[in-house]
Amino acid sequence: MKHHLIPEQTRLVLDRPRKRMVQDQLILRGIDDERVLATMLAVPRHLFVDAALAARAYHDCALPIGCGQTISQPYMVARMSQLLELKGSERVLEIGTGCGYQTAVLSRLCRRVYSIERIQALHDRARQNLRTARHANVMLKCADGLAGWEEYAPFDAIIVTAGGFASDIWLQQLKPGGFLLFPEGDDGQHRLVRRQRHTRGYSEQYFDACTFVPLLRGVHHH
Ligand code: SAH
Repeated sequence: MKHHLIPEQTRLVLDRPRKRMVQDQLILRGIDDERVLATMLAVPRHLFVDAALAARAYHDCALPIGCGQTISQPYMVARMSQLLELKGSERVLEIGTGCGYQTAVLSRLCRRVYSIERIQALHDRARQNLRTARHANVMLKCADGLAGWEEYAPFDAIIVTAGGFASDIWLQQLKPGGFLLFPEGDDGQHRLVRRQRHTRGYSEQYFDACTFVPLLRGVHHH
């Protein structure tokens, strides 16, 4: 039985902080969508950050992922995922792939995720991270997400993980009834807004105050 010891201990070392994260940061703060909770418990967040930061992967904060960008705080990833009210059959557009963690979470909650990142180095990293984690229902591209992704529109939902002001194109690429979720506002002071497209016009609801890295124009190649 000795050969079981190491894998089991390794599993515990990685699983315990994730369970605690789900309990203390998500359940206690009101995340109650069972599919979202199960997904947050299943996706190995520590594999999406630098090895040097892995020990902090389940802490209650955002972490740097290089190029001046961050992986969002676990609560914010869960909160945004829950606000999309996904049932499993949706095609979702994500703007701001970053390291691909939110992408991985979404890929388990819907049918297909299309994710756009404007920084080439992060796009490459996300592709690597998502390949390792075998997420086959994800399509990535390096481009300016302000233009959306015309080729695959319309989407059932659109989520933006960088803060700023909405591009009109996003609503145009959304199906009637679909949600566009994004952190709205000037630098450093955003509020989550969920806009629902109707056959004519849209309605919107405001949620948590939050701070995201800024939504920027253009593509950044290294
Ligand atoms: N969801 C990510 C969060 C990354 S931070 C995660 O889980 O790690 C937000 C990302 O949005 C950054 O990587 C930034 O480069 C990207 N971004 C900002 N403006 C963008 C734009 N116009 N198009 C595409 N990506 C953009």
